Amino acid sequence: MGKDRIIIFDTTLRDGEQSPGCSMHLEEKLCMAEILDRMGVDVIEAGFPIASQGDFESVQEVAKRVKNAAVAGLCRAKTADIEASAEALKPAKRRRIHTFISTSPLHMQFKLQMSPEAVLEAIAESVATARKFTDDVEWSAEDATRTEDDFLCRCVETAIKAGATTINLPDTVGYSIPEEYAAMFTLVLNHVPNIDRAVLSVHCHNDLGLAAANSLAGITAGARQMECTVNGIGERAGNAAMEELVMAMRTRPDKLPFETGIDTAMITIASRTLSSITGFSVQPNKAIVGANAFAHESGIHQDGMLKNQKTYEIMTPESVGLHKSELVLGKHSGRHAFKKKIEDLGYQLGDNAFQEIFKRFKDLADRKKTVFDEDIIALLGDDGTLYERIKFDSLRVQAGSEGPQTATLFLLVDGKKVETEATGNGPIDAIFMAISNIFPHPDANLLLYQVHAVTGGTDAQASVTVKLEENGITVMGQSADVDTMVASARAYIYALNKLLKKREK
Ligand SMILES: [Zn+2]
Repeated sequence: MGKDRIIIFDTTLRDGEQSPGCSMHLEEKLCMAEILDRMGVDVIEAGFPIASQGDFESVQEVAKRVKNAAVAGLCRAKTADIEASAEALKPAKRRRIHTFISTSPLHMQFKLQMSPEAVLEAIAESVATARKFTDDVEWSAEDATRTEDDFLCRCVETAIKAGATTINLPDTVGYSIPEEYAAMFTLVLNHVPNIDRAVLSVHCHNDLGLAAANSLAGITAGARQMECTVNGIGERAGNAAMEELVMAMRTRPDKLPFETGIDTAMITIASRTLSSITGFSVQPNKAIVGANAFAHESGIHQDGMLKNQKTYEIMTPESVGLHKSELVLGKHSGRHAFKKKIEDLGYQLGDNAFQEIFKRFKDLADRKKTVFDEDIIALLGDDGTLYERIKFDSLRVQAGSEGPQTATLFLLVDGKKVETEATGNGPIDAIFMAISNIFPHPDANLLLYQVHAVTGGTDAQASVTVKLEENGITVMGQSADVDTMVASARAYIYALNKLLKKREK
């Protein structure tokens, strides 16, 4: 029996990016888009072009870069929005315009202040306008799950008549349950006369932890496109996680006879790259991509696993690109072995980036006996190769129970070496004070200071994330080092450099 093909529509760069603390810079969006394209996503929603100049540019750059996937831009039911999307998507090989309007009584009355008839007119007009620019037009009924049945059917029929080729029925507020969400698709399939001319799509939010379950119920009822994000990032509790949807279909073809174009072996790298870009690591017990997702620690489980892996393992770590390290690196590992390791981990680096990372690796191997995969991933996430007005030179810290804790810091500011000393409530406070002495930034707030041990062992690297905010602009710095104080100083300096760059713009 042939399996039905499900279109994977990824909105990590749009719905995901809209969530608090997840805003991405252009280079970061391009890096993510490249991975999504490589892993076989069918449609990449790259942003909301009318929202800002930055959004417009990033959609345009993603459109230039993506080789296989269609690139989508979001727009309200407004001509200016649609024209901005069309313009930004011009360089794309395949472009999709995605326009939406609310259809629930609550949203129409309070948010739009429009009558149902006016909403129907807006649907016909916006979809027809979008069709002037591309044959691939998606229309979404915002808050579909709280829309009256008859009106929803009329809206869908109107959109298809005007030329929409994909109809998305989102659970915008994450309120639905699987049975009910499926029933909405059955309703539309049975009552909209021209429904055979469009593909139906699911888009679920995870406010009740049901995003994946609802999405799967929707395709079982006949939808053939799934909207999702990597790691399930997105507004509030997030969107349906791509890795959960794809692996559910792959692991249970008996109940979910569907296939996708996704290379599941790229799931781990997509997840790690996104975490490193946003600074949000996934919880250890997160399905598919959490650190413990494939860890079988309890004695009974381990015993069973040794006898037959299938006793407790429903999918293999390899199927999501998680490889057991065979090649552990150390001081004597050369360029060749290091290159192979980077490739095995799924990363692709240009020559300059490779040289820089190799240098950092050699430096680390001098101080740490065994360099694990996690150490290399942490180095790859380090912002050290970015634009630098302020460069870390060296640091001496006095810490311990006999205060005061003092930091003596040497920095290179615009190429000139400067020294300062500061005391603080603890060594980290002292380091951050020292940086402020040299480079005052009174309007910036420290939003986040986070430390993770990259591996086990007392010589583990500390991976530090620092988030700064100034006048609504948020930046993040990340660094890893066997010395937590050094990693903290570097991460803070990287964040500050990014803030300076933002200021220049
Ligand atoms: Zn959404």
